[in-house]
Amino acid sequence: MQYSKKEHIIVMRLFKGEELIESIEDVCVKEKVSSGKVQAIGAVQRAVLGYFDTEEKKYLKFECKGEVISCMGNIAGKNGDLVVHVHAVIGDRDGTCKGGHVFSAEASATLEVFIESVSGLTRALDDDTGLFLLDL
Ligand code: ZN
Repeated sequence: MQYSKKEHIIVMRLFKGEELIESIEDVCVKEKVSSGKVQAIGAVQRAVLGYFDTEEKKYLKFECKGEVISCMGNIAGKNGDLVVHVHAVIGDRDGTCKGGHVFSAEASATLEVFIESVSGLTRALDDDTGLFLLDL
């Protein structure tokens, strides 16, 4: 991974096989970013995405690979931990897309990631969904 800090924005380039969520967490710890927003484009050789079933209150997971057409999310604190919450739309060779919550995503050619620091975002348990949602 390469990264560079430009004012309040960190630009990252991931190499083949590097994992998106772990890489964002690593850079945030190194650069002392406790919350912010994330966007990325590129390509992945393997991604595990998920769909949250609000009735069963659990994630249904599936795998895909291809072009990361759009990827966005945020970073927030949860009980002293860092939570990277990212969603993506990934297209295959005929343009068919799958999308969802990103559990993991391994770069293939590259992933180009922008992290913009936004101070003070935290998450708290939402009793209705059972999820840790932004607490504003
Ligand atoms: Zn999500």
